[in-house]
Amino acid sequence: MSILLTKEKSALRPYPAKLFVETTTRCNLQCPMCLKQRHDAEFLEGDISSDTFMALMPALPTLEALVLNDNVKYEGIR
Ligand code: SF4
Repeated sequence: MSILLTKEKSALRPYPAKLFVETTTRCNLQCPMCLKQRHDAEFLEGDISSDTFMALMPALPTLEALVLNDNVKYEGIR
């Protein structure tokens, strides 16, 4: 019987391969299932600070992908 997590056969990486960063909590959609649409919702809206974003810089060299995510849908941009 083999050991699944030997160093040579490990599927685990020493660092994350992908980093998903939600750059803002703002959203101009109104999905009916969204908790933000509740009349009593008290979500704070804001953007990631430059200090927080800069704190991610040490992780970038080991990434295969950096995904910057927001929920703002831009009109007129293709
Ligand atoms: S896109 Fe996301 S945050 Fe925006 S309304 Fe829809 S579910 Fe809510």
